[in-house]
Amino acid sequence: MSDELELLVLGGGAAGFAAAGAFRAAGGGGAVGIVTDELRMPYRRPPLTKELLRGEATEEQLPLAQESWLVQQDVRLISGRAVGLDSEARTVDLSGGRRLRYADCVLATGAEPIRLPVRGADDPAVRVLRTVADVRELLRRLGGGDQVIVIGSGFIGCEIASSLRTRGHPVTLVSDEQAPNIARLGGEPAAQLLGWLEQDGIRLCLGASVDAIERDGETLEVLAGGSGHRARHVIMAVGVAPRGELATALGIELKGGAVPVDPAMRTVCPGLLAAGDVCLAENAAAGRRLRVEHWGDALGQGEVAGASAAGAEVAWADVPGFWSTIGRRTLKYAAWGDGFQEMRLELHGAGGFTAWYGSGGSIVGVLAHLADEDYERGRELIAAGAPWDR
Ligand SMILES: Cc1cc2nc3c(=O)[nH]c(=O)nc-3n(C[C@H](O)[C@H](O)[C@H](O)COP(=O)(O)OP(=O)(O)OC[C@H]3O[C@@H](n4cnc5c(N)ncnc54)[C@H](O)[C@@H]3O)c2cc1C
Repeated sequence: MSDELELLVLGGGAAGFAAAGAFRAAGGGGAVGIVTDELRMPYRRPPLTKELLRGEATEEQLPLAQESWLVQQDVRLISGRAVGLDSEARTVDLSGGRRLRYADCVLATGAEPIRLPVRGADDPAVRVLRTVADVRELLRRLGGGDQVIVIGSGFIGCEIASSLRTRGHPVTLVSDEQAPNIARLGGEPAAQLLGWLEQDGIRLCLGASVDAIERDGETLEVLAGGSGHRARHVIMAVGVAPRGELATALGIELKGGAVPVDPAMRTVCPGLLAAGDVCLAENAAAGRRLRVEHWGDALGQGEVAGASAAGAEVAWADVPGFWSTIGRRTLKYAAWGDGFQEMRLELHGAGGFTAWYGSGGSIVGVLAHLADEDYERGRELIAAGAPWDR
């Protein structure tokens, strides 16, 4: 099998999968390969902390496509880890010594969960959840009714906490935020999320920075905000860092750890593109670079990268956004995501609500629960730069 590839994709997540498919759809010919260190077909990551963790879906339901897709698209899945990239020679080295050559390469290596820089954070019983393997290992170790501590009140932390409550585990959520996602969403929407976690019976320890995690036999003690919380299992969900190290070695100047790209997903190195969580992409509609870590945007940016590599004139211009499900409640969010000056919360019946976000006189975001029409309308208003005072 030749190691000369027309398109070489590094990373078999959403962005990598979409890039390979879009390259073919845009008429890209020649050999295409996706290098993946997860040794499986690209799969949907969002259900990991939702349906899979609640026991309502199986691993077999997660792949983005059947293996027959590889044959239909004439795409090779190459198991391995990319450890070196030379953009002048256009080669990629895999661990184990194999060298691949490419005409174009899409860096789609995603992001890595962060561990807090505190004593005990490296204890093997302190887990992060990014992959199917992480969830499988957690479920294998969890005994029925085991107490769990979740650190972090971002969406992933809230989802994990609620899903584990659904399975009957006593859960404590520890966070330095005063309310979940308060910096991103503002006080009143964050208070709605707080109410949901309370309804789910999650014990909350908010406004408390973790100082250390100590082991006492089989039990871990999380020391935060002057008190201690004990459990056999601790899950850290405190954010992710882009896996940009392959680009750093090329001399590309990372921004916040991410690889800067233009709206066509091209880096400053000829023949090298980047998409998904690893990149900091310029959004053609927003007219500025936006850092996003969302499933739909990883797919969208991957499509742009693949089509660009095939020679198409394309640009990433979508309003970024995501859906999250906390317990049984789905939130839909669309926003440029780089801040807001004003926020207005509208309460609807049956617990539904819409939060509107404004900045510089324009609508820049919408967050909706049980208000799909607002969410859909909001996306259009944000894209159009509609005035805040409508
Ligand atoms: C548990 C969880 C739940 C989420 N839920 C939501 C949600 O509800 N809504 C939403 O919008 N977003 C959600 N997200 C975020 C979303 O999944 C990510 O934004 C998206 O997966 C990013 O896709 P990606 O392809 O850029 O990176 P990834 O999905 O991280 O894929 C990168 C792949 O590259 C591989 N890789 C990395 N380095 C190398 C290397 N050197 N060599 C070979 N392979 C390599 C990785 O192992 C991985 O398989 C969630 C994320 C997680 C972890």
